[in-house]
Amino acid sequence: MSAPKFASLKMFITGPTYIRQEIKEAALLPEFGHRDAENELRFGPIRRNLRLLAGSGEEYEPVLLLGSGSAAMEASIRSLVADDETLLNVSVGAFGDHYYNIAVSNGKKAENLQFEYGRPIDLDVLETRLKKLRPEVVSFTHNETSTGVVNDMKAVCALIRQYGALPLVDGVSIFGGADLDLANSGASMYSTATQKSLALSAGFGIGFISREAEEKAARVINKGHATDILKQLDKARLNQTLTTPNTTLVNQMYVQLEHIVLEEGIQNRFDRHLEMRSMVEQWVNALEGFDMFAPEGFRSPTVSAVVCPAGVTPVQLKMVVKEALRQSGYLMDPGYGKLNKALEEAGRRQVFRIGHMGDITPEMLDEYLNVLELELKKL
Ligand SMILES: *Cc1c(COP(=O)(O)O)cnc(C)c1O
Repeated sequence: MSAPKFASLKMFITGPTYIRQEIKEAALLPEFGHRDAENELRFGPIRRNLRLLAGSGEEYEPVLLLGSGSAAMEASIRSLVADDETLLNVSVGAFGDHYYNIAVSNGKKAENLQFEYGRPIDLDVLETRLKKLRPEVVSFTHNETSTGVVNDMKAVCALIRQYGALPLVDGVSIFGGADLDLANSGASMYSTATQKSLALSAGFGIGFISREAEEKAARVINKGHATDILKQLDKARLNQTLTTPNTTLVNQMYVQLEHIVLEEGIQNRFDRHLEMRSMVEQWVNALEGFDMFAPEGFRSPTVSAVVCPAGVTPVQLKMVVKEALRQSGYLMDPGYGKLNKALEEAGRRQVFRIGHMGDITPEMLDEYLNVLELELKKL
């Protein structure tokens, strides 16, 4: 076969992310049967390491659902919101709206409380809505990938619980890049995926399911098949998946999680992400006319959103800067399309993003920022 003309670009988008050579090579490990004893050799350590990385203790059962992060989010909706209940979704951006849309597509009674792009959840505003609506379930985004905002998960969950509701959390773009302390988070179900801060290909949604969620799901009907967390839990407890998994990805996930836990070290991984966030903040501070989009204290450790000087257009970001970086061997993120369109319509400044998640190192980021700066200065 002739070699395909695929470019090898260093990925600075917000997912899928850069994959290390060791993980690419792990794709060559033997295929296996997912109901055979060989399966256990992969999934036993995978589920043990997922617990360690999440800080979930024994309180949560990690479940691998086929698909991507959205598959876990959809399962949380189908299994934990009954048809006669109300879901309040809290959105601080495009992925917050995504959770709401999943609920609506599944016929659930849902309301969407939206905060302005670039802002975190305002607890006072949320409290007012909780008092009025009295929802049984509340969903929200831990780390809003479209705006680089990280919400205070524990504080939001605590407030939701004060009003007797069950908190469902979308942590797709932060799991593996920050300390969740899930055991003390207050989340009833936490959904994430493989292709963001875990630095693997897409292929699994990962759900951390609490005992409370399991009990609730037993009282919900019409949970579907792959979206039924009870069916998923039955197989997960056997260290299996409900249906046939991508065994190549399983092999890679085994190697990656062993690397994170035993070689890099979980705390070192989290510290590396914080260091990269600081690097971007310092770089932006030194760049005249550019600002961080998220307010201090709510800036994501895995993705930074940067506001451009007035006059920079979406076309310049998408066609000029992004294409120039491609020539230098990088895949740049020119900002979340819908967000920049809305900002443009409102006469506001454009925002691009820097994904610094997963296995990207401070050295790689430093090189990238230098190349990016040269292109931005040409605008
Ligand atoms: C990427 C992302 C999703 C969607 O995940 P998929 O894995 O593409 O289904 C949901 N929420 C957040 C915060 C994300 O970053």
